[in-house]
Amino acid sequence: MDASQPNPASIAADRPLMGKVALVTGASRGIGRAVALGLAQAGAAVAVVATKASGCADTVEACRALGVKADAFGVDVADSNAVEALVKEIAQAFGGLDILVNNAGITRDGLLLRMSEEDFDRVVDVNLKGTFNFVKSASRLLMKSRGRIVNVSSVVGITGNAGQVNYAASKAGVIGLTRSVAKELAGRGVTVNAVAPGYIETDMTAAIDGAAAAKLAEAIPLGRIGKAGEIAATVVFLAGPGGDYITGQTLVVDGGLSL
Ligand code: NAP
Repeated sequence: MDASQPNPASIAADRPLMGKVALVTGASRGIGRAVALGLAQAGAAVAVVATKASGCADTVEACRALGVKADAFGVDVADSNAVEALVKEIAQAFGGLDILVNNAGITRDGLLLRMSEEDFDRVVDVNLKGTFNFVKSASRLLMKSRGRIVNVSSVVGITGNAGQVNYAASKAGVIGLTRSVAKELAGRGVTVNAVAPGYIETDMTAAIDGAAAAKLAEAIPLGRIGKAGEIAATVVFLAGPGGDYITGQTLVVDGGLSL
């Protein structure tokens, strides 16, 4: 073989998602941005989704720099009609859909007795109904491609957390949804899994004050806060060949926090 030419076998190993189309919600920043870049690095074309397309420009540019097609799209994931139209638009623009990552999420923390109905509803609407909206709208496309769904939950959806009744309920719901859709779509060759991050350094956790953050980090057996890229690596694993025979599972990525 000509040593100056790239070896096709090593290209396949480096870029196992070449030719695949991925859609990542909440990809303007934080974990979603890292997931979009991880999928792009693995060779997938990426539809980068957040509340506004303009907020996704940086992620799109970084994905393109990795040599893949990428475009930005804006939607409120809680709006079922808008999500349905967007999934159609993306499938048309990218020529199908192979990987759906439901990552968009919000918190509106507060103790139960002080939590407003509006704060409960909005968190469930974005985190849980938003996931349902994309899964439902994309399911036919994914059956066609025998594709992958990865939903981003949270350890809090397993352990519960004081001050996060709305968020924990929404994230526990994502796990129940994941297991149920996995059973419904397994016969069509679609795998459906969840990733449950622990305490990860992003805008979402930036509001935690220094002393509380240090205490939290101390409670993590691996002794440090997680990085967005560490969650992305797990999502890319589930979306790639490593995830071929895994479905209905929730992979906890929390440095041991929930042990
Ligand atoms: P983040 O930095 O706050 O980013 C949130 C992302 O979601 C942004 O891209 C945001 O878009 C998007 N988003 C929010 N509401 C949306 C809506 N209604 N429609 C469309 N997009 C919306 O959050 P993160 O820390 O990366 O978290 C990502 C996911 O991981 C979330 O589901 C979160 O619950 C989960 N998680 C995070 C942690 C952690 O410690 N950070 C732990 C466990 C689980 P805009 O930029 O347009 O607002």
